[in-house]
Amino acid sequence: MKKTIRDFDLKDKKVIIRVDFNVPIKDSIIDDDNRIKQSLETINYAIENGAKVILLSHLGRVKEESDKEKNTLEPVALRLSELLDKEIIFVEETRGEILEEEINNLKSGEVLLVENTRFEDLNGKLESSNDLELGKYWASLGDIFINDAFGTCHRAHASNVGIASNLPSGIGFLVEKEVKALEGAIKDPKRPLTVILGGAKVKDKIGVIENLVEIADYILIGGGMAYTFLSACDINIGKSLKDEENIEFCKTMLKKYPDKIILPIDTINAKEIKENVETTECFIKDMKDDDIGLDIGHSTVKLFKEYLLDSKTVIWNGTLGYSEIEEFSTGTKEICEVLKNMDAIKIIGGGDTASAIINFGYKDYMTHISTGGGASLEFLEGKQLPGIKIISEK
Ligand code: ADP
Ligand code: MG
Repeated sequence: MKKTIRDFDLKDKKVIIRVDFNVPIKDSIIDDDNRIKQSLETINYAIENGAKVILLSHLGRVKEESDKEKNTLEPVALRLSELLDKEIIFVEETRGEILEEEINNLKSGEVLLVENTRFEDLNGKLESSNDLELGKYWASLGDIFINDAFGTCHRAHASNVGIASNLPSGIGFLVEKEVKALEGAIKDPKRPLTVILGGAKVKDKIGVIENLVEIADYILIGGGMAYTFLSACDINIGKSLKDEENIEFCKTMLKKYPDKIILPIDTINAKEIKENVETTECFIKDMKDDDIGLDIGHSTVKLFKEYLLDSKTVIWNGTLGYSEIEEFSTGTKEICEVLKNMDAIKIIGGGDTASAIINFGYKDYMTHISTGGGASLEFLEGKQLPGIKIISEK
């Protein structure tokens, strides 16, 4: 078991918390402050327990000097101050005397936010390549390190793995919640465990398929990648997405797990991918040469529903159609509706899947929607995430 923030005496200690404040910002206005809100529990706990709180986060990508202006954490400092109803000391540096002095002046219960850790990427990707000296330097600024940025746990950066290598470390409440939900679903699931997989390409999901096919009782495949699986069964899929390089992989999977992998039986098609386009629905075997398959059909929803209603755990990654366009969002919405009324553990991973479910209004009916797109995928691939692996054991 990994140490958590609860395992440390934080009183009067300089506690560095790596948070995920990578929020969408346009013209200094934050479009969606969900990630800031998700980090409040850990920050508040540290404040209440008398820590001197030092916050580190990345924001966007910083490749050249001109990227700095749009990627400053200053708007985040203001929003955080509102949310905590507390002054935030924002330091416009990622290292140096000013930062060190501000940290030394911190009183217990005060909160300081350091400028975007990726500003360090300008000097040769120091942050993103986990430069050892940088990790050591940041660690020297504190006494304890808490990693609460789940969204970057699949990357070894100086601000997570680098610092954790040099300080007593633990995970925060958000990372703890993510790990419990995702690990619970794949390590010791209540059965039957049904996995819903969709999204665009087979290529992006090979690791997830390989890991989950072993664990799950059923895998329901929709989205763009279903057509590659169907093509592997020598079915004409018209102009649908086809991942030529992975046809063999699909064939192998279908041969090895014929009763576990469930493919669509009908499809919603169009001739073009655009809003307000005319759509047709047909059985898979009746697809025409110029059809692009963009959603699962109604009979497939019914078929998937039969498997889902029996399940005690559901893991869902990848939308079942091109759900950014209304015409092709029906399958995803109908499966949301099935899950809404189910009494089961329902875990959602993947950035686009999470956004779709939240946008369609089904957030409150899910057990857990992961905040980490890429991180949740790697978790479902069965990989150990470096940002968590490095944390001290209890
Ligand atoms: P996540 O980010 O949750 O892991 P993905 O990125 O794998 O999910 O999948 C979501 C993407 O898959 C969406 O952009 C969606 O448009 C695309 N997609 C789903 N079905 C299809 C399809 N039939 N054809 C093309 N793209 C599709
Ligand atoms: Mg995606």
